[in-house]
Amino acid sequence: MKEDLMTMYNPQQLMNLEHQFGAHNYHPLPVVLSKGEGVFLWDMNGKRYYDFLSAYSAVNQGHCHPRIISALQKQASLLTLTSRAFYNDKLGIYEEYITQYFGYDKVLPVNTGVEAVETALKLCRKWAYSSKGIEENRARIIFVSNNFHGRTLGVISASTDPTSTTGFGPYVPGYEIIPYNDIGSLMDVIGQENVAGFIFEPIQGEAGVIVPDDGYISKVRDLCTRHNVLMIADEVQTGVARTGKLICCDHANVRPDVLILGKALSGGVFPVSAVLADDEIMLSIKPGEHGSTFGGNPLACVVAMEALEVVKDEQLADNAEKLGRIFRRRMKEIVDQSPLIREVRGKGLLNAIEINDTSDSSTGWDLCIKLRDNGLLAKPTHGNIIRFAPPLVITEEQLEECVEIIARTINNF
Ligand code: PLP
Repeated sequence: MKEDLMTMYNPQQLMNLEHQFGAHNYHPLPVVLSKGEGVFLWDMNGKRYYDFLSAYSAVNQGHCHPRIISALQKQASLLTLTSRAFYNDKLGIYEEYITQYFGYDKVLPVNTGVEAVETALKLCRKWAYSSKGIEENRARIIFVSNNFHGRTLGVISASTDPTSTTGFGPYVPGYEIIPYNDIGSLMDVIGQENVAGFIFEPIQGEAGVIVPDDGYISKVRDLCTRHNVLMIADEVQTGVARTGKLICCDHANVRPDVLILGKALSGGVFPVSAVLADDEIMLSIKPGEHGSTFGGNPLACVVAMEALEVVKDEQLADNAEKLGRIFRRRMKEIVDQSPLIREVRGKGLLNAIEINDTSDSSTGWDLCIKLRDNGLLAKPTHGNIIRFAPPLVITEEQLEECVEIIARTINNF
């Protein structure tokens, strides 16, 4: 579309267009964004905001990171897609790079996060039949309550959120759901017949930044090892430095059998996701048994490599760890003074405040509107929880300014 045509619309008209011509599967905060750089977003009127959502933790490296954009532009003019019918000159290099980066034998490259989760579930079933000796069609995979792994049928079949499931049945069988952060429940089921895998988020992001007890993840590791059950960590949101370590399981010094990554793997430039595992598991899938036209395309490969280099070079995990501690300490002071907020919780720069109100209240939304007015963008997850997850390139000075905005907004609410 020509630029002059785009400038013919004002923000309200653009919101109306989305409403009229787009499916109503989202309810965005009313702000129309047109530019991003680092920790900042700008609306069409040129008003600047701190981004405290980071596209659900996809933009850890900051908006339009110049190194990632430059890698994208260079590759885009050379070669974008060949499909996996042929080799391309970037995929092997990327595969070597990412497997060494995260410490696995192999990677299976895909596009979106939910596609990576689906891939991991299929891989788990294949492994169960070809290696563990489970009888065909009998494999069971254990999930936890309040999980969020995306929106496909195979994934919502394990969801406990009625908004995700109602009206979409019948569901995929072969799943068990146990409470999160409850090692006793896992002990009860993991030794049962035909259990192939246990999939979980090391911190539940969409559920409202639910951090499990210390020791939970290492006990999960022990149980999975003891029962020859695959430990599958969905780190689509928590991975790539967000929680103050490269992956969240690093806090517990735990290595999952299957690691699922997405979002910030491309720095939010476009969908790049991955499943990582060792040979014994990954080679269960044979040629032709799984794939995707765009998975492993050369554009994705160079973008992901540059995005991961930025994470390392700019020490984003260390910054998330350090600034996360400061943020929670400062927010705790606000929580202690304000009857409106119940608690602040999180790890690294994946944090949330919980409002003293019911989950069906509009307080979270109303507060986010006021935050927007004051120059900070965040979105409630459930009615009474607001996630605060800025790009990891944020500086201490910027973070202090954001804490001031949040404090002022809460006090005036
Ligand atoms: N897994 C987790 C933990 C997520 O948070 C998300 C998205 O928020 C997904 C999977 C799905 O990722 P995508 O939206 O890229 O399909």
